[in-house]
Amino acid sequence: MTGGGILYAMQAGEIAGEVIAEAVQGKDFSKRKLLEYDRRWKSEFEKLLETGLKAKELFSNLSDEDLNMLAHSLDGVKINVFTPWSLLRALINKAESKDAIQAGEGALLS
Ligand SMILES: Cc1cc2nc3c(=O)[nH]c(=O)nc-3n(C[C@H](O)[C@H](O)[C@H](O)COP(=O)(O)OP(=O)(O)OC[C@H]3O[C@@H](n4cnc5c(N)ncnc54)[C@H](O)[C@@H]3O)c2cc1C
Repeated sequence: MTGGGILYAMQAGEIAGEVIAEAVQGKDFSKRKLLEYDRRWKSEFEKLLETGLKAKELFSNLSDEDLNMLAHSLDGVKINVFTPWSLLRALINKAESKDAIQAGEGALLS
C-alpha cells in the first residue's frame, strides 16, 4: 500500500546487520541478544506496516466504481508524502461522499 516494501527491507537488513555485528563482537549469540532485531524493527516500523496492511485490506475491498470515485475526488489535490494516512486524509477532505470515506477511516482505526 505504501509502495515502500524495499525501504522496509533495507531498514530491516540494516538492523539485522548491526545486531549480528554486535553479537559477533561480543560473542553473544543468546536469544536475548538476537531478539534485539525483533524489538528494533518493531519499534521502528511495525505500526506503519500494520496501518499499510489495514489500508490495503480496506482499498482492496472497494469496487471499481468506488475506486474511480475516490481517484476523481483527488483531482487537483497535492500529496507531498504518500502514505495510507495522507491518502485517507486527502480523501476525507476532498471526497464528495464524506460519509463513505469516514466509514473507511473507521475501518482502518478499528
Ligand atoms: C510485483 C512487485 C512490485 C513491487 N514494487 C515495489 C516498489 O515499487 N517499491 C517497493 O518499495 N517495493 C516493491 N515491492 C515489494 C518489494 O519487492 C519487497 O517488499 C522487497 O523485495 C522485500 O525484500 P526482502 O529482502 O524482504 O525479500 P525478497 O526481495 O523477496 O528477498 C528474499 C530472497 O530470499 C530468497 N530465498 C527465499 N527462501 C530462501 C531459502 N530457503 N534459501 C535461500 N534463499 C531464499 C529469495 O529467492 C529472494 O531472493 C514489489 C513487490 C512485487 C512482487
